[in-house]
Amino acid sequence: MDNDRRVTVTNSAEETEEFGFKLGTFLKKGKAVTVCLYGELGAGKTTFVKGFAAAFGIPGREIGSASFVIVAEYETVPPFYHIDLYRLGDEPCLEDIGLWEYIGSGGIAVVEWAEKLGEMPEGAVSVNFEYLGEDRRQVLFTGIDGTDWDRFLQETRKK
Ligand code: ADP
Ligand code: MG
Repeated sequence: MDNDRRVTVTNSAEETEEFGFKLGTFLKKGKAVTVCLYGELGAGKTTFVKGFAAAFGIPGREIGSASFVIVAEYETVPPFYHIDLYRLGDEPCLEDIGLWEYIGSGGIAVVEWAEKLGEMPEGAVSVNFEYLGEDRRQVLFTGIDGTDWDRFLQETRKK
């Protein structure tokens, strides 16, 4: 598995959404994958998911609108799961909510507070958000095939 680390900086929430949209569009074309999101409260995880989900045709306003929801399942092709573990305690019973079934199900699962999974699923992509300033975030990501990703960005830029 390719494990190169890449880093970018976004200068607004819109830029983070745009990054999410690009990554969603890219990963949607590939095999089932889990995207593990890390970063403190307000770092930009949900903002990223809004863009990512838009790549599946899901309106941003549907993302994170009910904060008590742990797993939101969308019947898209491929299926999309937005999982937010924020409300779970430090030692959550992931088996109880059937989380591993979603993650291994052949869809694309995006997980906020992925550190609570305990372990990163095999072949997962990780995206780590860090606060740099009011509107600036560092976005560090790993687990994406660098060659394919670079080619994809060149293709989308042409459009
Ligand atoms: P999390 O899900 O990590 O707790 P949210 O995405 O819910 O974070 O909140 C991020 C907040 O920071 C939003 O209010 C968003 O508008 C704001 N923000 C400002 N700049 C950025 C940026 N560059 N990227 C993401 N969010 C940003
Ligand atoms: Mg969030």
